[in-house]
Amino acid sequence: VTYYLKNIETKAHLNAFVEVYTDYALAQAEKVNEKLANGKAGKLAGMVIGIKDVLCLRGQEVNASSKILGGFESQFTATAVQRLIDEDAIIIGRLNCDEFGMGSSNENSAHGKVLNAADETRVPGGSSGGSAVAVQANLCTVSLGTDTGGSVRQPAAFTGLVGIKPTYSRVSRWGLIAYASSFDTIGVFSRNVPDNALVMEIMAGTDEFDSTASRKPVPAYSELLHFEKRAKVAYLKETIESEALQPEIKANTLSVLDKLRQEGHQVEEVQFPLLKYILPTYYILTTAEASSNLSRFDGVKYGYRTPNAHNLESMYKLTRSEGFGDEVKRRIMLGTFVLSASYYDAYFTKAQKVRRLIKEFTEDLLNKYDYIVMPTTPSTAFKFGEHSNDPVAMYLEDLFTVQASVSGVPAVSIPNGTDAKGLPIGLQIMANSFKEAELYAFANYLT
Ligand code: GLN
Repeated sequence: VTYYLKNIETKAHLNAFVEVYTDYALAQAEKVNEKLANGKAGKLAGMVIGIKDVLCLRGQEVNASSKILGGFESQFTATAVQRLIDEDAIIIGRLNCDEFGMGSSNENSAHGKVLNAADETRVPGGSSGGSAVAVQANLCTVSLGTDTGGSVRQPAAFTGLVGIKPTYSRVSRWGLIAYASSFDTIGVFSRNVPDNALVMEIMAGTDEFDSTASRKPVPAYSELLHFEKRAKVAYLKETIESEALQPEIKANTLSVLDKLRQEGHQVEEVQFPLLKYILPTYYILTTAEASSNLSRFDGVKYGYRTPNAHNLESMYKLTRSEGFGDEVKRRIMLGTFVLSASYYDAYFTKAQKVRRLIKEFTEDLLNKYDYIVMPTTPSTAFKFGEHSNDPVAMYLEDLFTVQASVSGVPAVSIPNGTDAKGLPIGLQIMANSFKEAELYAFANYLT
């Protein structure tokens, strides 16, 4: 803990941490030391973990990196976080992110931007940018992020880390501030696959506080990392031939596929005609869900309340106008529009149907093949401001990550070399729902 506290101080300019729980972490460390001395310590004894600013820890402030939650204190601890604490992990602080998880660059945060430690003029990715940089810059051992459409995998790719989005419903969402409830998952950033698998196996599983959490038993992922089978791997023609794809990322992805062939695995190209519908489907459905989820922030119950109101109506309006950032407002408006009576069928209902087609295609493919392999992102980390004035260009960043989110299947990003500028490249692997053990084993084989 002392080691990390020192690093956090010397790397404060990266702005990864919103708050460091110095006293709490030191006190926890004392307790864990005692348990270790008595031979009674849990599976994560001494593992120092940072958590994204959307996960609740009782008695601590949590803001979803939004002004509207300024001063809000958690009333309870998220199940995922509690399970880590129960195994003697030490929670060291709260990590910066895009406001309510909306963004791909961590530039939409009320706490300011986070710098990528590989090149401080570039974004770390988002929305879990602080969680990525905290592990990248050695400010904690592993971190928790959330992934609704790529928010763990994309920043993991930009910072050279292992980042997983589990199957939807594998980890309880109790104590996670919602963005889009039918997409939200809690994921893990780490330097290697074994750490990631261990944390996931402890976090996952049924929870009486989240009725959507799966009751399927959780395998011991960290003990199932040995990979010796002959894998059937598909890659999607449209992803590898995408115009948006940076040539070095294409080359590195193809070379992994070649290597797999040489090692005796079956690697086949598959067509994916639905690729162009994925982003519109994702952004219609997630903005709809967000507009509903964020309606609770009205100045009455949580965080910020405007000091400028003169009646109840203006209190609602001014609180929300002053409390939310531009990107969040854009999405609330878009989501409200697609849910409005006259447009509901044209947008929301249609997107639900397309979601089903994408999910069925993806699951069918993953019944025929063990894995789908593709780049995590079309480009490596971009410069600050490069996409800030063009929301559509920013949304295109999520081109390869949203398929797993729309389908609910698990996906992991692992490091796959660097580009000519030395910036990390990520490789994404998807497997069928609840195949995290197989996913981790293959990721471990490839790293
Ligand atoms: N960039 C995507 C979005 O803004 C993904 C965010 C996420 O996974 N939380 O919606």
